[in-house]
Amino acid sequence: MAKYQFVIDKIRALFHKPEGAIYLHEPSFIGNEKKYLDECIDSTYVSSVGKFVDLFEKKIAEYTGAKKAVVCVSGTNALHMALILVGVKQYDEVITQPLTFIATANAISYCGATPVFIDVDKDTMGLSPKSLEAFLSIETELKTDGCYNKTTGKRIKACVPMHTFGHPCRIDEIAVICNNYKIELIEDAAESLGSYYKGQHTGTFGKIGVLSFNGNKTITTGGGGMLLFNDEKLATEAKHLTTQAKVPHPWEFVHDEIGYNYRMPNINAALGVAQLESLNFYLEKKRLLATAYNDFFQDKKICFFHEPDHCISNYWLNVLLFDAVEERDQFLTESNNQGVTTRPVWKLMNRLPMFEKCQCADLSNSEWLADRIVNIPSSVILGIK
Ligand SMILES: *Cc1c(COP(=O)(O)O)cnc(C)c1O
Repeated sequence: MAKYQFVIDKIRALFHKPEGAIYLHEPSFIGNEKKYLDECIDSTYVSSVGKFVDLFEKKIAEYTGAKKAVVCVSGTNALHMALILVGVKQYDEVITQPLTFIATANAISYCGATPVFIDVDKDTMGLSPKSLEAFLSIETELKTDGCYNKTTGKRIKACVPMHTFGHPCRIDEIAVICNNYKIELIEDAAESLGSYYKGQHTGTFGKIGVLSFNGNKTITTGGGGMLLFNDEKLATEAKHLTTQAKVPHPWEFVHDEIGYNYRMPNINAALGVAQLESLNFYLEKKRLLATAYNDFFQDKKICFFHEPDHCISNYWLNVLLFDAVEERDQFLTESNNQGVTTRPVWKLMNRLPMFEKCQCADLSNSEWLADRIVNIPSSVILGIK
């Protein structure tokens, strides 16, 4: 019998699926999705104009408490847009964590900038304010026009922490440090819709926050992203840049800078509006699953990752921490062989060929976590009580 059969059996029992595949995160459509999609098709407004685009932005702003929200085609291009909007230019550097999805580092590269990798905290899996302060105080020099890296001579323009698997990082401390060093703060909140730090929604602490609505996220638009702003002027600029920088006019086509076609189509936004109506229900169900996992692993020799202090997590993807890499690998093999999807964390960014030459601070927490994290099935279970 498999060493971890008891875990696999427990997952199957929770999902009421004695056989067949169980995936990591499947979308669920239980509300007005079809109704709103029908409305789009009946009205012929399926593309880049239509009422659901504006409505989705308004509803997300209300939900998160951001002043303004601007839709994008994906979370990745929302990150790209955010970096452009805060002024990241070619040859700049941008601080981020090595323990993240590739999109964070890719978006930095799209600007011609280079990531600098700083460690995460073990109890949040997100950027560590202590490590950030240590790096900045020793390795950089503050000039009138910004923060400069002593080793490379380059300007450090922005910092992009990520709320890993929906667990908020110490974002208030990070915000203070960034402010002291004249570094723009962008939150990669792609995984943390519905997660709060000290009562405030993630993605609203920095200058810009980024959400994703990819098919595996807490709610989905098929594919999509959102920019969150507290600065209305910056939001207006974002709208302009994401819509080909077209100067508003009833019939003339005039563009006043190089823009992007990053605007979400109306059919995707329609799906988003319907999904958002179910979000609180999904979050309740996800919390019940996390509680069930937490109770189960209490007396086992495997650690279930619990939401950090002062935080409410959306428990997007549930996390187990194994004692060692051999045990982790055994569990991955046994569970996947039986159709229960489990996954190690992304390979650390500094270990990928595109980023292996980037500057790194001490990354011992990230390396420690990279050997131990496993994501286990986390979809919304409608019938869970
Ligand atoms: C999902 C995700 C994104 C955005 O991904 P898209 O698929 O482009 O929407 C960005 N960063 C992180 C950490 C993510 O998990």
